[in-house]
Amino acid sequence: MRYISTRGDAPVLNFADVLLAGLASDGGLYVPEELPKFSKEEIASWAGLSYADLAFKVIKPFVDDCIEDADLKSMIDDSYAVFEHDAVAPLVQIDSNEFVLELFHGPTLAFKDFALQLLGRLMDHVLKQRGERLVIMGATSGDTGSAAIEGCRHSDHLDIFILHPYNRVSEVQRRQMTTVLADNVFNIALEGNFDDCQEMVKDSFADQGFLGGMRLGAVNSINWARIMSQIVYYFSAALTLGGPHRPVSFSVPTGNFGDIFAGYLAKQMGLPIDQLIVATNRNDILHRVISGNDMSKGTLEPSLSPSMDIMVSSNFERLLFDVYGRDGAAVADLMARFKKESVSLGDGEWHKVRELFASYAVDDETTCEVITEVHKATEYLLDPHTAIGVKAARECRRSASVPMVTLATAHPVKFPDPVVKAGLESPQLPAHMTDLFEREERLQVLDNELKVVQRYVAEHCHRS
Ligand SMILES: *Cc1c(COP(=O)(O)O)cnc(C)c1O
Repeated sequence: MRYISTRGDAPVLNFADVLLAGLASDGGLYVPEELPKFSKEEIASWAGLSYADLAFKVIKPFVDDCIEDADLKSMIDDSYAVFEHDAVAPLVQIDSNEFVLELFHGPTLAFKDFALQLLGRLMDHVLKQRGERLVIMGATSGDTGSAAIEGCRHSDHLDIFILHPYNRVSEVQRRQMTTVLADNVFNIALEGNFDDCQEMVKDSFADQGFLGGMRLGAVNSINWARIMSQIVYYFSAALTLGGPHRPVSFSVPTGNFGDIFAGYLAKQMGLPIDQLIVATNRNDILHRVISGNDMSKGTLEPSLSPSMDIMVSSNFERLLFDVYGRDGAAVADLMARFKKESVSLGDGEWHKVRELFASYAVDDETTCEVITEVHKATEYLLDPHTAIGVKAARECRRSASVPMVTLATAHPVKFPDPVVKAGLESPQLPAHMTDLFEREERLQVLDNELKVVQRYVAEHCHRS
């Protein structure tokens, strides 16, 4: 499988290179040159496979001959063996023909574990093959950092440095990062806010000289392997609900457009999906593009669903590449203009987007109402991100006879505020995490100064 950039002006890479690359050199994102396609018969033959066996079928064509089958299989097996539920991604029914797909049974209780458990293992494997080491740097406001740390803690060939804003992430989220005591894991609490953390990482990537020859790698949501891993659970849910012989619809709580883009790919690969619904909070750039062809940044407003608080959805560029007929120059031009001003898509392109996606934006008040409503009807507790997905599903649903699946992206215990606000009892940590508040923590508080951070990274990373 060969990978090309959405801006059409970067080297064509194979899977292993894309895995370690991050952004393409022309500023674009890597996508497969051609998607694998599966026939209905082939998809139907996967009914009854375990999650890991299904994942192998879906992922194999993307990896191609970069990794031996047996190695890929065992990395996939190991990644999903750490999930606490035997089904890995179980479906729960919350109303007539309406379901949530629980994607929070991994080590950090949010769906990002699906991608990052595998990503850490894949990176380690490729680095070992090449006899190289890598330094990962990332900024987090919560979920991504802990999932990345859990994914990389067992890797022998990389060190991971995660920056979070000092005293500005929740205690559960902080402890999920700082109680991992592996000697390749470094938590930096920066005296600043999340933007300062991101800036620090960006500036470090722009000038890697401080590492004295070592390479920096990224695990943020533009990494292709993360999207790839997320395609699997769309197949898994559809097969459970009678697919591919009947279509299924999905509603996806969306921030950076990574998760829902994986659903779009599943559909392009042959899975019968009826509706794909983009659910946003009040940071609704995606809803504004899809409903009114208004692609403008707006201002960032903190919400009760912080993992969807974004101004720009980086993975949307991957969709634009397709709707612009894979014309990299057109995408490059649009993104260059978007950097400076508000833009609209061409009429034809916008109509294509609208045929592919429905969308809905949900405010904080409604989020709390949905949590209360669903709890009252079923005693099922939704996290705020998932509640937004359920609301959007109910508003946008076209046909009651097509099963509607909302992706449950986080366990409610990670975001207890709206649950308590809704007047419900605070959710409990799952059994394997009840001692989280007693575990030893390790973190380094650092000044908000590039030189200080870079010196810390350079002094602590392991060199080959
Ligand atoms: C990251 C995250 C999202 C948004 O996912 P994207 O792939 O960025 O659209 C939604 N919910 C939760 C809980 C998350 O952690």
